[in-house]
Amino acid sequence: MNAQKRKKVVIAGGGTAGWIAAVALSRQLGPLLDIILVESDEIGTVGVGEATIPTAKTFHRLMDINEREFMRATNASFKLGIAFENWGQVGDRYIHSFGQIGKGVWMGDFHHFWMEARAKGLAGDIGDYCLELQAAEAQRFVADEKSTLSYAYHLDATAYARYLRTISEQRGVQRIEGKIAQVNQDSETGDITALVLVSGEQITGDLFIDCTGFRGLLIEETLKTGYDDWSEWLPTNSALAVQTEAVGPAIPYTRAVAHDAGWRWQIPLQHRIGNGLVYCDAFMSDDKARSTLLGQIEGKPLTEPRKISYVTGKRHKAWNKNCIALGLSSGFVEPLESTSIHLIMIGVTRLLQLFPFGDDVTALRDRFNAMSAVELEKIRDFIILHYHQTERDDTPFWKRCRTMDVPDSLKARIELFRENAHAYQDGDDLFRVDSWVQVLLGQRLQPGAYHHLAQLMPAAQLEKAMSDLKNGIDAAVSKMPAHHAFLNSYCLENAA
Ligand SMILES: Cc1cc2nc3c(=O)[nH]c(=O)nc-3n(C[C@H](O)[C@H](O)[C@H](O)COP(=O)(O)OP(=O)(O)OC[C@H]3O[C@@H](n4cnc5c(N)ncnc54)[C@H](O)[C@@H]3O)c2cc1C
Repeated sequence: MNAQKRKKVVIAGGGTAGWIAAVALSRQLGPLLDIILVESDEIGTVGVGEATIPTAKTFHRLMDINEREFMRATNASFKLGIAFENWGQVGDRYIHSFGQIGKGVWMGDFHHFWMEARAKGLAGDIGDYCLELQAAEAQRFVADEKSTLSYAYHLDATAYARYLRTISEQRGVQRIEGKIAQVNQDSETGDITALVLVSGEQITGDLFIDCTGFRGLLIEETLKTGYDDWSEWLPTNSALAVQTEAVGPAIPYTRAVAHDAGWRWQIPLQHRIGNGLVYCDAFMSDDKARSTLLGQIEGKPLTEPRKISYVTGKRHKAWNKNCIALGLSSGFVEPLESTSIHLIMIGVTRLLQLFPFGDDVTALRDRFNAMSAVELEKIRDFIILHYHQTERDDTPFWKRCRTMDVPDSLKARIELFRENAHAYQDGDDLFRVDSWVQVLLGQRLQPGAYHHLAQLMPAAQLEKAMSDLKNGIDAAVSKMPAHHAFLNSYCLENAA
């Protein structure tokens, strides 16, 4: 690319990925770029992807997105974590919350203290020591200058893309409606030179961002980048999605309820609930999935159940030639921990940091690809943990998941916790120690030992520390308003 002229960025696709890319590039690098987004109303978007993680809040702040305005526009609710039901064993329930559990010290994390206190009969459940988890259970919420709650959002995916489009267009992004019929390449370099629409219009560019969804029109159908298939570890390959009327006030967490061959999501928005059944079609027929979903949802369906098929895995390279894949075109790890929108946000943040202004971008591209790959592999391991670390053997699906071989990286983590209760967060890890601990314990992994640092404290001091923590959390939660009451007043049209 010529380093002197304004760069022309062409975004193919206008789903969540396309419009997040448009918002970010226009907000941060707008004066240096010409940005065009092409989308086809006829093709439409995947229409799911409604639960986020707390990084969405940070991303919105960086992008100057007003929280109240965004929540009103997308009928969003607050999310404090995910309740996992029937995962370790049928009848089990635990919450993976976004919060910090207790207070650790430099020599050891809080759960080592908790295990010692527990062994001495001085502690309750681990969740008693987490503010977000207790607020979720009590269905309470507050967000003000004094609040330290770590939270994310449930949002209406279609409204979100529409909202981001409005902001992007205000910031100078040009939207072109039309179906891409052909992708032209340079005969020597293989770089993409133009998108050709059905109308015949040609859209040329320097950098192309593929946000065309699972098909990967540019990155795969054109550039043949290749795909790492991870279905041996994450065997679900189908989802049925249906929206229902709300039956009560929105709860501040997602529900992920395991069933015979996968799990079911329930995502509460202000005006409706998003539901879906994730399953592996080798273990459950589409008819059975449909009847299971319709038999378990609460509230009147607002839409017909819609099937979405996918292969879990990742594109060999997120950036190939002059094309960067974002969103579903770059790969997909199923939605159990709501990580896909995060991956779009972090992907575009990386692009902002490593934007290719020079002519030679080989090393830049390698760096971008290496970072993207390791990030997704770490998330993959965390998701596999939920399936593999279980005592369930009541169906062929769960027997398979429990006994399957898992990546060595995950094996090592499980063993580390099994032996001595150690968990860690590396530089590339999205999930913090608290997340690993909540899920490892929630999935019934009982460590054989733990760090004995709490034995250095007198029992009375340990007991007081535990009860002070719990009492402080209980008192803070009791002062919070109900989630739905807070949500209603926060999203009022005339609220500040
Ligand atoms: C079952 C399921 C549940 C999910 N749940 C979550 C969740 O809870 N949380 C989360 O973070 N993520 C979730 N995801 C992922 C999330 O839905 C996606 O990451 C997100 O919606 C981004 O999708 P996308 O923009 O990449 O693709 P899409 O929404 O498919 O958009 C593709 C765009 O490309 C355009 N396009 C395609 N071909 C052409 C063409 N030839 N010409 C012109 N335009 C074209 C389409 O019109 C559309 O605008 C889930 C995914 C699935 C499958």
